[in-house]
Amino acid sequence: MPDFAMSPDIPRQELLRALYGFQAGQEALRQVACGAGCAACCTDRVYLTGLEGALLRQELLRLGRKDLLARPGPAAPPAYTCNQLARLCLEQREPPAEDAPQGPAGVCALLEDGRCAAYQARPLACRIMASRVVCRRGGQAQGDPWWLTLDTALMQIAEHLDLGGVYGALGAVLSTENGQPGQWLLACEPLPGLPAPPEHQARLQQALGPLFASPVDGRPLGAWLNLIRAGA
Ligand code: SF4
Repeated sequence: MPDFAMSPDIPRQELLRALYGFQAGQEALRQVACGAGCAACCTDRVYLTGLEGALLRQELLRLGRKDLLARPGPAAPPAYTCNQLARLCLEQREPPAEDAPQGPAGVCALLEDGRCAAYQARPLACRIMASRVVCRRGGQAQGDPWWLTLDTALMQIAEHLDLGGVYGALGAVLSTENGQPGQWLLACEPLPGLPAPPEHQARLQQALGPLFASPVDGRPLGAWLNLIRAGA
């Protein structure tokens, strides 16, 4: 039986930073064409959790860029969260239809002169954007099917870390962090499992092992995920 009797406070920000660190390690193994000033993927269709939004807000305040907190207006909401989509996939059910028009309508509100104004605290959705070739605005990134499998799992874990929190477009999440009423926000769901193509399943378990075992505030990250699920 897990020792939930004396459940500690969940160090959610530290867990999120550990996840970001793990992702950076994986990113370093990839041959990507992305670099400074390359911002084709910095659109208004960036989705993140409220926990990530809080880190982003802290960074903007640290940088003295409170003005940017007020800048993002609500963008088109996502039709589903990552874990909702994974759950529906595992249940062999269709996801809800997307209400938003296909494709982005504009650039991210944090993009200034082709660079991210809060790069150190950018959300996971930005961190996992990568392409083997240089892509231009409106063009397609060219990744690797394995990257998609691993990065989807990391997005699911990020959502689980904010169970009880919200998920939505950057504009909507930052508006909430800025004290404005939240709208177009979805509720974070727990990890329902990690759906992956059959050829990636063993590799995914192997790749995530070190992440789940990595110590955060005295416990393995995987143990914290269980505590979060148990409602600690
Ligand atoms: S938060 Fe930063 S990295 Fe992410 S889309 Fe906006 S400008 Fe680009």
